Amino acid sequence: MAKGQGITEKFLEGARSASTAPWKVAVKPFRAAPRVYFVGDSYVSAYLVDTEEGLILLDTVMFGSVYMTLESIRTLGFDPHNLKHIMLSHCHHDHDGGAEAIRQYTGAEIWLSAIDAEFKTYTDKEEAGPIYASPQYTPTRFYDDSKPMRFGSVTVQTYWTPAHTPGNTSFLITSPGDGGQPLTAAMHGGPGPISVNEEYMAKHNLTMDDLRKQFMEDGYEKLRHLHVDIELPSHPPLSDILDRIPEDRMDYRPLIDPDAWVRFLDARIPRICKSDPNWRK
Ligand SMILES: [Zn+2]
Repeated sequence: MAKGQGITEKFLEGARSASTAPWKVAVKPFRAAPRVYFVGDSYVSAYLVDTEEGLILLDTVMFGSVYMTLESIRTLGFDPHNLKHIMLSHCHHDHDGGAEAIRQYTGAEIWLSAIDAEFKTYTDKEEAGPIYASPQYTPTRFYDDSKPMRFGSVTVQTYWTPAHTPGNTSFLITSPGDGGQPLTAAMHGGPGPISVNEEYMAKHNLTMDDLRKQFMEDGYEKLRHLHVDIELPSHPPLSDILDRIPEDRMDYRPLIDPDAWVRFLDARIPRICKSDPNWRK
């Protein structure tokens, strides 16, 4: 990507390449946290979590890029057939486009929030264009934010973080670091603009103001007080993670930055609401 580009330009260029020539956005996988590996591309992230109870994939990248995600998993020395869970942050094609293909190939279960499982029925219609055509999937597992999920030594805690989509979900993954001390990595699932359509809002009696309020209360205020050692962007252009990949791609330690999470949220999240002068907060 050209230097000096803003986030919007980077996004548009990345989306274009990822849609039409995915090999142009290929990224060699790397270890992003003790048991977390980046297996996405330079436009959109996917993270592989290695647990004693099988592999977990956080988001899938786009349908046309799935072959690269599978290749990344193998490059890291893992067998995609050990994938047990595909956990989706939300129901947009750039994050869930590969879900059905990967499910059929590996037998992994697909997780989504119950709210986005319903919202998906509204967006499926909108995203049916040829570029975005992805095999449709049906989630069979739904998040329960009230308690962490344990997979051996790895803990996954989900957080409902509307309103990029109404059921948007963020993840905190805690696992023992190489020195034994636990480290937490986190991916905010929805730092993009509110994408809820009018049909959905009318059905659920919601206004844009309601969604902006939800965004600040659940997507920002609640999360910024959490301790996070390593921030994992859901799209690489949202952070400098790809510029900071260590020379030794298996050494996550240079990515530890306990202030990065709050910096990311402070810079990114409130802009979505505060950019609207009609928003009251
Ligand atoms: Zn999205």
